[in-house]
Amino acid sequence: MIRLANVYKKYTEDNTALENISLKVDQGEFLYLVGPSGAGKSTLIKLLTCEERLTRGFLKIGNVDLLKLPDQHVPELRRQLGVVPQDIFLLDHLTVYKNLAYTLQAIEVERKKIKEKVLAALEKVGMLQFKNAYPNQLSIGQQQKIVIARAIVNDPKIILADEPTGNMDNKSAIEIMKILYKLNQSGTTILMATHNSTIVNTLRYRVLEINHGRIIRDQAEGSYGLAT
Ligand code: ADP
Ligand code: ADP
Repeated sequence: MIRLANVYKKYTEDNTALENISLKVDQGEFLYLVGPSGAGKSTLIKLLTCEERLTRGFLKIGNVDLLKLPDQHVPELRRQLGVVPQDIFLLDHLTVYKNLAYTLQAIEVERKKIKEKVLAALEKVGMLQFKNAYPNQLSIGQQQKIVIARAIVNDPKIILADEPTGNMDNKSAIEIMKILYKLNQSGTTILMATHNSTIVNTLRYRVLEINHGRIIRDQAEGSYGLAT
């Protein structure tokens, strides 16, 4: 599903954000990306969404070779990915419903389908009753659920989430994880960058640890930050 071989990302000549990353993620896997701030987690996610381009190496999602993918085909790729960016970004002047519908209108899904898909996505994250609310009427945890709903509105096979439980209380973080857990159970591949060791150590999945742009550990049902 996702394959990287000897991937490098240099933002500038003297800054190598990722160095020689090789990695395979199968369909249906749940992978935590862990490591200190500045390790390269976000960069790895951005390479997958083509928000940043790899400097060298091999990177494929499904059959798409991201090194060769022309810019004009990037939106097509993104449509197949559910992206939960690090910062919650919702349109404040639009209702929850319209924030989600907007995404689909942009890709010209027909009206009836839009309604179906939006309501189904809100249902999956348990936010259907907030469809007419405006983002600023919601807590951070609730807003993040809407961001996740928006990410899954087009039924992506892969979800890429950058610190999806950042800046929220524990209870909300657990609710977010329950949503991601359920999505993974139904077959969605999930890559999640996180600092939250409690989550990583409680809901055990594969752990990829990055430090200074290099993979230093790749472990099935791994832990994070526990003395071993
Ligand atoms: P993490 O997500 O693990 O905190 P990042 O991927 O954000 O790490 O950053 C990895 C390295 O790349 C850091 O040294 C960071 O300063 C650098 N970096 C990230 N984005 C940029 C950018 N747009 N321009 C230059 N350097 C960047
Ligand atoms: P526009 O301002 O773009 O014309 P509308 O308000 O007419 O948008 O809504 C577009 C479609 O979305 C309509 O079919 C409408 O029934 C549906 N819709 C809008 N808001 C909701 C909602 N909160 N719940 C369910 N369907 C909605």
